[in-house]
Amino acid sequence: KGTGPQRWRFFEPAMDIAVQARRALELDLREALEKDGFELYYQPLLNIRSMKIVGCEALLRWNHPQRGMIPPAEFIPVAEEMGLIVEIGDWVLNRACAECRKWPEDVRVSVNLSSVQFKRSDVASTVAAALRSSGLAPQRLELEITESVLLQDMDQARRTLQQLRDIGVRIALDDFGTGYSGLSYLHAFPLDTVKIDRSFVNEIDTQSRSLILLRGVAELSKALGMKVTVEGIETAEQLDIVAAETAVDEVQGFLFSVPLPARAIRELIVSARPAAGAPAAMQGTTR
Ligand code: C2E
Ligand code: MG
Ligand code: MG
Ligand code: MG
Repeated sequence: KGTGPQRWRFFEPAMDIAVQARRALELDLREALEKDGFELYYQPLLNIRSMKIVGCEALLRWNHPQRGMIPPAEFIPVAEEMGLIVEIGDWVLNRACAECRKWPEDVRVSVNLSSVQFKRSDVASTVAAALRSSGLAPQRLELEITESVLLQDMDQARRTLQQLRDIGVRIALDDFGTGYSGLSYLHAFPLDTVKIDRSFVNEIDTQSRSLILLRGVAELSKALGMKVTVEGIETAEQLDIVAAETAVDEVQGFLFSVPLPARAIRELIVSARPAAGAPAAMQGTTR
């Protein structure tokens, strides 16, 4: 096709490097799973009225021996293609449930489920097993799924969601507003929470279309009986607008805390609430 050998000689080494890098990444991922190379960080979710921590989202971190911290966006897609995400996800579930057991009882944990995990027929029993071995009450676990999961096989997705709800865990629709986001999904599936993507608050101001959209989605979700969370709050202005102008229940974002290692989040949860036995008058002043 007019590609002389000279050209191939030009491309071959480059392809080779890409393939080798990918192989190395795959091997490193397997090793990380075997040798405790992953860590869970946690980011708080706050009730927008009381500003109390009501939950934390578990976020996976990979501390690579040579490359340092690799963000999930870089390695989760690879782990998904390898199928290794099932084992990694299992580790995440077990670790997150065990950690949540150490928190006050009114603080829950949110765990992101990959579509690969969600599509496995045994996802419900995996979740049940993690709850059993940690002793965590099911209502303290919220599973975050994305719309793409619902689009693929709607009937299967509905059955899986029902199985998970039968266990007693809660289901959140993550990153709402980024994908195909038919509003119809909100009532076509058994969901407890809608997490509105941070793109909605990025450019929010009192005049913006973002606010109109956010307000509409929040109101609709509430009318359908769901809780509404907004992620990616970075400034006090964004918080003020969301609190004053929308029906949003919970907020998450760098304004409150970046994701933190387990010990730091435990300290944050404890320090953010009144000490047991503190006078009631003081409790009101503790955020
Ligand atoms: P996500 O589930 O939407 O998680 C929220 C992401 O937004 C996190 O990125 C968090 O650090 C970031 N974030 C939180 N607040 C702010 C903010 O105020 N501003 C900005 N700019 N970003 C904020 P992270 O930790 O890099 O995770 C990225 C994605 O990787 C997650 O998005 C989730 O889809 C996936 N992920 C993370 N952990 C897991 C896991 O254990 N399993 C699976 N399957 N996916 C995971
Ligand atoms: Mg999430
Ligand atoms: Mg999200
Ligand atoms: Mg997101």
